[in-house]
Amino acid sequence: MTVSVKDLPLHTPIDGRHRKMLIDGIWCDALSGRSFETRNPATGAVIGTVPLSDSSDIDLAVAAARRAFDGPWSRFKPYERQVLLLRIADLMERHWEEIALSDTTDMGMPIVRTLANKNRVLGMLRFYAGMATSIHGHTIGNSLPGDIVSYTRKEPVGVVGAIIPWNAPTAASIWKIGPALAAGCTIVLKPSEEAPLTPLLIGALMMEAGVPAGVVNVVTGTGAEVGAPLAAHMDVDKIVFTGSTATGQSILRASAGNMKRVSLELGGKSPVIVCADADLERAVPIAAMSVFANSGQICIAGSRLFVERPIHDEFVARVSAYAAKLRIGDGADPETEIGPLISPRQLERVTGFIEDGTRQGARLVTGGNRITEGPLGAGNFIAPCVFSGVTDDMRIAREEIFGPVISALPFDTLDEVVRRGNDTPYGLGAGVFTRDVGKAHQLANRLRAGSVWVNTYHAIDPAVPFGGYKMSGYGREGGAEHIEEYLNTKGVWIRTD
Ligand code: NAD
Repeated sequence: MTVSVKDLPLHTPIDGRHRKMLIDGIWCDALSGRSFETRNPATGAVIGTVPLSDSSDIDLAVAAARRAFDGPWSRFKPYERQVLLLRIADLMERHWEEIALSDTTDMGMPIVRTLANKNRVLGMLRFYAGMATSIHGHTIGNSLPGDIVSYTRKEPVGVVGAIIPWNAPTAASIWKIGPALAAGCTIVLKPSEEAPLTPLLIGALMMEAGVPAGVVNVVTGTGAEVGAPLAAHMDVDKIVFTGSTATGQSILRASAGNMKRVSLELGGKSPVIVCADADLERAVPIAAMSVFANSGQICIAGSRLFVERPIHDEFVARVSAYAAKLRIGDGADPETEIGPLISPRQLERVTGFIEDGTRQGARLVTGGNRITEGPLGAGNFIAPCVFSGVTDDMRIAREEIFGPVISALPFDTLDEVVRRGNDTPYGLGAGVFTRDVGKAHQLANRLRAGSVWVNTYHAIDPAVPFGGYKMSGYGREGGAEHIEEYLNTKGVWIRTD
């Protein structure tokens, strides 16, 4: 099925079909025979069912991944892995509209955005394809007596368990599968139960591209029944996880049994700092969309907006006016800028934060209301929201909301904003707006975050590492460092005399 965006109906196709999951190159149901529904968050309608797996399905998938790792996959040369990854990228490119539509329907991200993500995602795959033939060890001189050659080899870590969230299913799947395959690993991918459809579609494209059976497995189900046994599995060599900090902690504990490698991309409470000398025309839309993109359901949401006092009121008014004009709607409508939240539960959660903000004395400047009437009434919609008069101790300024909520806070000096910006357990992203190159460097150096964007936000490129400080996790995705997460280094000594 190829769908042109011009032909998209306002409510995307609800075929209600049952999809099977992928284990060992075979499309199968859960051993228990159970399944669960997935819904379109814009309409509440069931758009399909998928297997509801448990640890016995995980055992099968891990065994398949191990057989593939020890068997046919280990004989794939780097160049062959590179060609395969490029073929996957080409195939995904041909099917991009279907992929974009699948993400939009299953998790609500506006179609303009899911379509626009093409270059970012395929760029990643093509970057990893290049990495496959750039993996190398070193010959290292040693000081031992006699003739002993010493060198390092880079070897794939083995079977990877990848656990991903729902907020960007395609990008999250490819950021795991791409480097795993480039490094020569095999993988068991566990999508979020909130948005399992696109990872299954990606599994189908992997098969079509010629990925050998067992190299990529996609197992659907809940965190407790599928994610936890995958994290604890004694035959999994590495877990790569993207999701909340609390889940990351339990994954870390579960991984202790066989001390598997773990990398974690977790939550955030990122500061965006607007200095009085900034180009405000440029800063307003970027600061607003640093949070409102994907309805605030982004790990790097710049949800604490620090504005230098002389421009605070004007800037907050402009961001609020911008927020009030954003078009809310079904993500399948190409005009939509703000789609729904993922689930009624998430809607409750975000609304709870907004009520808390008001109760604790913050001033709701715009938005924050649920949309309960009209064509959007059945979906999980909330108007983008800006609070002013926020203090650092309020819950809305401290906890990750994962919704379209900005907390504006005035500041007076650079030292103060650095201290307050860093005063969070998280350290994922930070934004700075200034025309002063000295301030830009100072803030970029002093903010404790894995990514700092100056006069821009959301810039992500395959060649530039992305990841967290502090409780936003560890390990990097993107950049030369990324492939190292999937490799072991072996030292080899050969006596030659
Ligand atoms: P989540 O932690 O609830 O779930 C993520 C995944 O973990 C899901 O597949 C879930 O089924 C699984 N899971 C849940 N409990 C588990 C357990 N005990 N053991 C193993 N797996 C388990 O997160 P979410 O609500 O899906 O996603 C939102 C969170 O993800 C936010 O905190 C956001 O900041 C974070 N996130 C981070 C990044 C990043 O790159 N740092 C990117 C996107 C999202």
